[in-house]
Amino acid sequence: MDLEDTLLMMPGPVPVAPRVLRAMSKPMINHRGAEFSAMFDDCREILADVFQTKNDIFILSGSGTAAMEAAVGCTVGKDDVVVALENGKFGERFKDIAARYGKVNALENEWGHSFNLEEVEKKLEEGAKAITLVHNETSVGIQNPAEEIGKLAKKYDALFIMDGVTTLGGDTVKVDDWGVDIAVVGSQKCLAAPPGLSMISVSEKALEAMNEKDALPYYLDLKAHKKSADKSQTPYTPGVPLFFGLQEALHIVKEEGMEARIKRHATGAKAIRTAADAMGLEMFPQLNDEHSHYSNTVSAMKAPEGVSGNDIKKDLMAKGITIAGGQAHLSGKIFRIGSMGNVQPKDIMLTIQELEMTLV
Ligand code: PLP
Repeated sequence: MDLEDTLLMMPGPVPVAPRVLRAMSKPMINHRGAEFSAMFDDCREILADVFQTKNDIFILSGSGTAAMEAAVGCTVGKDDVVVALENGKFGERFKDIAARYGKVNALENEWGHSFNLEEVEKKLEEGAKAITLVHNETSVGIQNPAEEIGKLAKKYDALFIMDGVTTLGGDTVKVDDWGVDIAVVGSQKCLAAPPGLSMISVSEKALEAMNEKDALPYYLDLKAHKKSADKSQTPYTPGVPLFFGLQEALHIVKEEGMEARIKRHATGAKAIRTAADAMGLEMFPQLNDEHSHYSNTVSAMKAPEGVSGNDIKKDLMAKGITIAGGQAHLSGKIFRIGSMGNVQPKDIMLTIQELEMTLV
């Protein structure tokens, strides 16, 4: 299969624009020089608009999971309790990370089932230093109620740590209005940059929590990132070619405008859901809460009776379209179509068309 003819319709990595690829082939520069600092600040300025925040934003050389670990590892001590909300693979990952650094009080829902806010509140009532939430649970295609969880976190004075890995840059995220103390995103999702970088916003309150901890992770030390970022640098050698790619991708985001970008993502996902319904396919998420929604960036559908989701994936792959299957115990039971980043209506139309041909 010719890689250039392959359409990536998975929930990251996503297709990268040719101008982003070209930017990455520029000669290396001194990461302690003025040129890098200008690029770093330019990226952070555009990211502040994407995150809708005045908080500090750091850029880590490491994928989204690195930022998840930095968030928890820098704020949670061994006696601190983390309320970890799980309704899919990445909520489980936050829970597992929290267990490495502190004590976990998990709310474990069946994967794909929306959270009950009263149950979340009960967990917080028991006392917590932090609460973790995956805004868009990519593994099951559900969007969790970040704004409402933010209100609860504030009420119980818990740090609100949010994974916005598959919403930031593609859907509405209001870090400041929602009271998100730490928000994280990976480069390879809605921002449509190559994989390998993660971006993290950190509130004053979260920085204060870091001052109270006696030991922070070394490579993922966000206080070290703060010290360097104040001088428009990163603490260690960054993935310079990835920064070139990120800067170009962020300029594409800026040129499109976040409002138009969010609308494009919402329309694309709605088109997939409408087509799925017409094909008799059932969406996987179980929405029992008015604040939870189907994802606007990845659509998870149940495999039809007697068909494996992995076979659907294989059939589409043979046609040059890469979609995703189910993760962990959902392997074979569901399949997922990503529609994030630069994915265009024509890509969605082609995927729907080929999916229909596969199912007849
Ligand atoms: N969180 C969410 C919601 C994700 O979708 C992913 C990756 O798919 C991650 C975290 C992990 O990111 P990475 O694979 O970049 O470490």
